[in-house]
Amino acid sequence: MDCIFCKIFAGEIPSEVVYRDDDILIFKDIDPKAPVHLLAIPGKHIESLNDLTESDTEVLGRLFIKMKDIAADLPELKNGYRIVQNNGKEAGQTVFHMHFHLFGGRRMMWPPG
Ligand code: 5GP
Ligand code: ZN
Repeated sequence: MDCIFCKIFAGEIPSEVVYRDDDILIFKDIDPKAPVHLLAIPGKHIESLNDLTESDTEVLGRLFIKMKDIAADLPELKNGYRIVQNNGKEAGQTVFHMHFHLFGGRRMMWPPG
């Protein structure tokens, strides 16, 4: 499958890994939009939130727990951080392997553009 995030998960394309296990990878975004900009993905190729099933419940739960643990360890995020998931083209999704952005280290705007 020609999916860049599947290749990153498999280690076929290098990335700056922050956390990995058999089911989850958290790595630095190649084009950071904030001082801290991480991407959290399941290893399983799920195109978007629309494709989630009950069988993904545990992995997704663990993905969020890991994001929270990593955020707690980063001093830049002590005053807050944002998790974003772009779901579909109009929302700004460009990589169709579901992922969560973890941003922080600067003041975030609301509403997002
Ligand atoms: P989306 O726009 O789909 O929500 O987010 C995709 C993100 O993946 C973008 O922030 C983009 O910078 C990042 N990205 C795209 N290709 C690569 C890559 O090869 N390596 C890494 N580390 N990030 C990537
Ligand atoms: Zn994929």
